[in-house]
Amino acid sequence: MSDTPKSHGAKSHGRLSISASRTPRDLMGPGPRLATAWTAKIITLFPEAFPGVLGHSLTGRALEEGKWALETLRLRDYGKGKHRNVDDTPAGGGAGMVLRADVVGEALEDAARGTPPDRGEWPVLYASPRGKPFDQAMARRLAAGRGLTLLCGRFEGVDERALEEFGIEEVSLGDFVLTGGEIAAQAMLDATIRLLPGVLGNEASTEEESHSNGLLEHPQYTKPATWRGREIPQVLLSGHHGRIADWRRETSEALTAARRPDLWRKYRGEG
Ligand code: SAH
Repeated sequence: MSDTPKSHGAKSHGRLSISASRTPRDLMGPGPRLATAWTAKIITLFPEAFPGVLGHSLTGRALEEGKWALETLRLRDYGKGKHRNVDDTPAGGGAGMVLRADVVGEALEDAARGTPPDRGEWPVLYASPRGKPFDQAMARRLAAGRGLTLLCGRFEGVDERALEEFGIEEVSLGDFVLTGGEIAAQAMLDATIRLLPGVLGNEASTEEESHSNGLLEHPQYTKPATWRGREIPQVLLSGHHGRIADWRRETSEALTAARRPDLWRKYRGEG
């Protein structure tokens, strides 16, 4: 699809700035973006894949309201030669193609423009199955900064020298291999953006949910009170806040111990 070379203005790199989402036309227009809004800069061969699912529901509304901003850098625009090649065969032989260091390097340089040099404020990430596993703590760290730059790989990945040169942090969505970094990027962004101030209506809901306090969340119920012969646990209908809180904590602990012994040990301070 977008893998075919497009005739963009040569050196401007046709950088696409996205402020608010939904339709491709909207993406191009000046949105209500605030100069200070938390910003994600995504380097990808497939900018059309963004904002993707992030353009819907809470993250989509927050994007439209300028509570966060999205910029995509089209990797193809940094490609070499008439065909704007971005990849080549792996040194040493073997299957597949590798994204070129010079191509990725120029995109990273462009992305760095106007961002704080302090990586604490502005992490520069590469979505990679070799990376540190993404978790809620990392989402919190990313949300606490001013934004991030995220490189999405394709094919066999990226020439190692580009990663070294720019001191890039590799982050993994999990122990499996995707065909590209775009889905991982959207998953990580979703987890991060919902922690930004004002994105979720009810701020309290990020404090008690799974992983925020080291436990998995207790079961949830809603209407109808009886469904296919199944009742909602009586205590939840009792109106007794103390007992409800106890029940939630107990089931949360039991669930964590049963399903995730690793989290349970950590929670209990057993390493
Ligand atoms: N040859 C590489 C895998 C390349 S997969 C290896 O064995 O490590 C192609 C691209 O998909 C990667 O460059 C990366 O950006 C993305 N990707 C694949 N799996 C991922 C994961 N678990 N987390 C984040 N990104 C991933």
